[in-house]
Amino acid sequence: MSKWVYFFGDGQAEGRADMKNLLGGKGANLAEMSSLGIPVPAGFTITTEVCTYYYENGETYPDDLRQQVADALGNIERIMGAKFGDPENPLLVSVRSGARTSMPGMMDTVLNLGLNDTTVHGLVKLSGDARFAYDSYRRFVTMYSDVVLGVDHYHFEELLEALKEDKGYTLDTDLTADDWKHLVGAYKAKVLEQLGSPFPEDPVEQMWGSIGAVFGSWMNQRAKTYRRLHHIPGHWGTAVNVQAMVFGNMGTSSATGVCFSRDPSTGENAFYGEYLVNAQGEDVVAGIRTPQNISIAGKEKNKSDLPAMEETMPVIYKELVEIRNRLEQHYKDMQDMEFTIQRDKLWMLQTRNGKRTAAAALKIAVDMCNEGLIDKETAILRVAPEHLDQLLHPMLDPDAPRHLLAHGLPASPGAASGQVVFTADDAEAWAQKGHKVVLVRVETSPEDIGGMHVSQGILTTRGGMTSHAAVVARGMGVPCVAGAGDIRVDYRSKTMTVGDTVVKEGEVITLDGAKGEVFLGEVPTLQPELSGDFADLMEWADKVRRMKVRANAETAEDCATARKFGAEGVGLCRTEHMFFDPQRIIHIRQMILAEDESGRRAALEYLLPYQRQDFVEVFKIMRGLPVTVRLLDPPLHEFLPHSDGEIAAVAEAAGVDVDKVRNRVSMLKESNPMLGHRGCRLGITYPEVYEMQARAIFEAALEVSETAGDTVFPEVMIPLVGSVKELEPMRALVDRVAQETFAAKGREIGYHAGTMIELPRACVQAGVIAEQAEFFSFGTNDLTQTTLGMSRDDSGPFLEVYAQKGIYPRDPFQSIDVDGVGELVRMACERGRATRPDIKLGICGEHGGDPNSIHFCETVNLDYVSCSPYRVPIARLAAAQSVLLKGQGAEVDR
Ligand code: PEP
Ligand code: MG
Repeated sequence: MSKWVYFFGDGQAEGRADMKNLLGGKGANLAEMSSLGIPVPAGFTITTEVCTYYYENGETYPDDLRQQVADALGNIERIMGAKFGDPENPLLVSVRSGARTSMPGMMDTVLNLGLNDTTVHGLVKLSGDARFAYDSYRRFVTMYSDVVLGVDHYHFEELLEALKEDKGYTLDTDLTADDWKHLVGAYKAKVLEQLGSPFPEDPVEQMWGSIGAVFGSWMNQRAKTYRRLHHIPGHWGTAVNVQAMVFGNMGTSSATGVCFSRDPSTGENAFYGEYLVNAQGEDVVAGIRTPQNISIAGKEKNKSDLPAMEETMPVIYKELVEIRNRLEQHYKDMQDMEFTIQRDKLWMLQTRNGKRTAAAALKIAVDMCNEGLIDKETAILRVAPEHLDQLLHPMLDPDAPRHLLAHGLPASPGAASGQVVFTADDAEAWAQKGHKVVLVRVETSPEDIGGMHVSQGILTTRGGMTSHAAVVARGMGVPCVAGAGDIRVDYRSKTMTVGDTVVKEGEVITLDGAKGEVFLGEVPTLQPELSGDFADLMEWADKVRRMKVRANAETAEDCATARKFGAEGVGLCRTEHMFFDPQRIIHIRQMILAEDESGRRAALEYLLPYQRQDFVEVFKIMRGLPVTVRLLDPPLHEFLPHSDGEIAAVAEAAGVDVDKVRNRVSMLKESNPMLGHRGCRLGITYPEVYEMQARAIFEAALEVSETAGDTVFPEVMIPLVGSVKELEPMRALVDRVAQETFAAKGREIGYHAGTMIELPRACVQAGVIAEQAEFFSFGTNDLTQTTLGMSRDDSGPFLEVYAQKGIYPRDPFQSIDVDGVGELVRMACERGRATRPDIKLGICGEHGGDPNSIHFCETVNLDYVSCSPYRVPIARLAAAQSVLLKGQGAEVDR
């Protein structure tokens, strides 16, 4: 018999924290807390395997599930001293989802389950509070009807509003027990009217309805979207947790809250949390009421005038602090906890490793290591490399003038400017057209995540640090200011108003997510600080990693940034990018459009000194480090003149007729420029081009080494090679020019010549190609384009659909297609090494800065990865993690 149900409660549990795959994160941690003797309401977890079974068997359950659930329910009854469906002493339960990793707000939940027209009397008697009992009952009826029966929430809102109007009430708290009782009847009548069948009175039927709804919600649209954005596989499934209810809304000695063992925004080792008196858990997360801080320090920091729990419930606060300490020591990571206080008794409802900002992740990892809680390896693995991006980008310039509009909570750090939009759909539509937008909402909900994802920043006027907007923005690394209560948002007129200032849709605002400030217009930014915790973690990572990290850079500025971020060389200097300057582009056009060699040589003659000077600068900045210079690889369409003015300018520079140039342009137009006359094909057909470039490289290297000594290490790279017969003459050309230049200057320097591997044929032929190449650099942009037969420029729209359908779950141009492109890379490495054991192997496609692809590079033992300068720290950390993960036998995430 399979075990489908795991019980927990009363200091015991059948599950454990390391059973997340089976029990989901919530279930596994509830079990763990229960075993630790922490007060957890008794309950049971139905495993993720049941979810898998459910979808594989036409939405049915395994035969023995019912009995196992009934047995577990019996256990809850015994521990809680109450009975499910009992008119005198009814047990009420919650039914919640719980996947392996948390998917906040994406799936369904039902609370107060077990209430009906009979058991509600029991609840009245037990609580001594009829108003509370009927309030709970109507919450259950609305939630169940919405989630399980599919009767829309607004039906119930309408009935509530009508009653309030009728009675002259303004607030929900004005309603009496009888009012709620009356509404329950009206709600049920509405359900009957909508569905033609009555609201279920049988608690067992209610429970199975809710379990089915939770499993069903695994496949709802927002959960699917969330999984796609977070690369969570659909086959994981969710568990279902059924747990005895405890009530945070039984009067002023009851409360509910969320807390973090350290500050999730800054990482400071300070207990941080929020709570609401006389409320149910979803009220905190939904951001409907602005909560109070649990600690006095937190209250002062957030300039709140509401009393802290430390003041109002000091004994329980102390107990909570003790639990916080125990859980953090036990899990050795920052914990995000949910709790409920029912009439002065504290219950823990959840603990998990807390989501945090990049700054917090860094500080917590380094602090915990310094505190001796974790070792350096663990600290390195604790920071998501992608997350570092947030720290490497600019912050608001403190000295820049600014117009402060409003204050809110510092919900997710970073500076963001953009045009204001008021709906998630608008955010997506505007972003698609290339606008930078800031999404402004009263509050956000799970439906908004698509729009939140594409926004530069998010601003809400309601809700706390744990509101949906705050939690999701932190996870996405999007700056967010939450709960800016002075701002009034009017969705109809698409405006936001603060005092006399009205900001219309499309106007620019700036957010400082680290301070919780909102400014009118755009505020200039400053470069970030790279010392302190950042430098410490990077130093630890550098000691662990095996692969070198280089940068793709061609300008002095990029090279300087790369060095500052710790690059160990240039892995790709794209020489065609050095010609975009308006002064030069005319001559590169002149060269491309020339009809014969002498015309080309005339243009090249002009370009040589520029090119040499470029290399002098790059070599100087990168002194002591290798620089891989790639010979010209211009997809022609990027360089051909288009407008009449551009054509006239080229004609003038070349001293030829405009019509002649126009004819030449139309002759050179290609149907598939990406597969056209580019890369080494240019060198093969016009060797004088590569000759000029090689000369510029060696002359520059000699010039710099004259004063800087032995610090210049040029590596000359031939692009887009498919056959050794292409590489051989180009290599010979480079060697010849080197010797000529050395002879002319009377001095020599060391250099290497190698090739890019960016065509499938080159991978297959790598063994032969290695005879002529001292190094390979995998150009995985072109290799992906040519292996998948998908244009790098045109595949965005359909790849999005492919991602949704899970065909290529990640964009293969961002994260390496391990099974296809990866296999070719693996083969090329093996064949290259077989010919030339000491061949140097690297990668310089976009994938060189993608952590998952870097992990793959470690598995095939590349010598280095090369990425854009801003990604260098990300790559350094990812390379270190790859060594550690490889040591743990982790697979590359496909
Ligand atoms: C590549 O193809 O991966 C590469 C680095 O070259 P480019 O992007 O310049 O074609
Ligand atoms: Mg390429």
